[in-house]
Amino acid sequence: LRTQVGIVGAGPAGLVLAHALGRAGVDCLVLERHSRARVEARARAGLLEERTVAHLRRHGLAGRLLAEGTRHGWCEFLCAGHRLRMDYAALGGAEHWVYPQHWLVRDLIAALETAGRPPRFGVPVLAVEERRRIRCDGLELDCEYVIGCDGARGVTRRALPAGLRRETTRRYPYDWVAVLAEVARPVGGVLYALHERGFAGMMPRTPAIGRFYLQCAAGDTPADWPGPRVRAELALRLPLAEVGLGALHEVRILRMHSRITRPFRHGRLVLAGDAAHVLTPSGAKGMNLAIADATDLADSLLHGGLDGYGRRRLAAVRRAQDFSERLLRLLHRPPDEALPDLRLLTAPGPHATAFAREFTGTSEETDDAQWRA
Ligand code: FAD
Repeated sequence: LRTQVGIVGAGPAGLVLAHALGRAGVDCLVLERHSRARVEARARAGLLEERTVAHLRRHGLAGRLLAEGTRHGWCEFLCAGHRLRMDYAALGGAEHWVYPQHWLVRDLIAALETAGRPPRFGVPVLAVEERRRIRCDGLELDCEYVIGCDGARGVTRRALPAGLRRETTRRYPYDWVAVLAEVARPVGGVLYALHERGFAGMMPRTPAIGRFYLQCAAGDTPADWPGPRVRAELALRLPLAEVGLGALHEVRILRMHSRITRPFRHGRLVLAGDAAHVLTPSGAKGMNLAIADATDLADSLLHGGLDGYGRRRLAAVRRAQDFSERLLRLLHRPPDEALPDLRLLTAPGPHATAFAREFTGTSEETDDAQWRA
């Protein structure tokens, strides 16, 4: 089998790229190891930056998101009995769009299907050979370009020559329990709670579902967190009465780490999204970066060539990683110690403005991280 661009992985990065290239008449094929049903049911991220939505809109992919998504522009820090609100949209940032990642994935697959170029599901890629041949069980795909959009646990990054590949990994001394749960009233904005028992977070997803996080000991497994323990810890650390916590739908452990694999491009093999860089969910950057990679890559392939792709994307990833890391450090400090810094951060002024702009991706090069709690 032959194609111009072989794309491994039907996550946000692979699907947006396939759509942008296909619309421009480039022959491309997405290979995805899981079934369509599984990919469309996988709830993960949910906060989209304004510029991400602008990318999607430009490619005609934002219809349902604009109709069904909601927006919010504030977060709150709960710390040592205080509640510190930050209206980051009003402080120089922008509003986030709230739209679950698996809904967006569903929309992107439907758009490819309508265009007559659906991904091939249930096709695990085993290896990439000579950076131009994708090998699966019973299938070989020869490509002019191979694009690895196969996420954190994919195979494509291993096709970078061993002597060239560099991975920078950070492991944090704690993990997070990630919970999806029904709520009687929607979570209105992002809540970060600094608590002596550990960090907890509450984030909007849909009017009826919220995303909750709990700091736990590094290495804990789901067996350490049965439903009653999750409910009890959430109740201790978060103001659950405000949302009316209902049934828990999913409890998993996030191994808290980040990893950047370089180079993002070697010859005709290119990495995008989590295949190239994994960040913690603290700053809600992963899906946004994946879509930004895909749109940059599509523009590069269609217009200017791939030369600047790795440099531009690495710079963006480093900015996002720096932000996520500073936020993570702040969120895991003892509440009494962190309170003065949080007061400074949330009071209108240069710190709040820098945070607002970094959080919502409106800063880029202009603010060089003025808040360093
Ligand atoms: P993925 O979405 O991981 O897609 C990769 C695809 O490749 C998958 O479908 C996979 O099945 C497929 N694949 C893997 N290996 C193979 C193979 N060998 N052959 C064929 N196919 C393969 N980001 C945000 O921006 N905001 C948030 O609020 C946020 N919250 C998150 C919460 C959680 C609990 C998690 C886990 C992540 C969160 N993220 C968030 C991160 C975000 O979900 C990821 O960054 C995003 O999914 C990356 O998209 P991607 O297309 O690069 O990779």
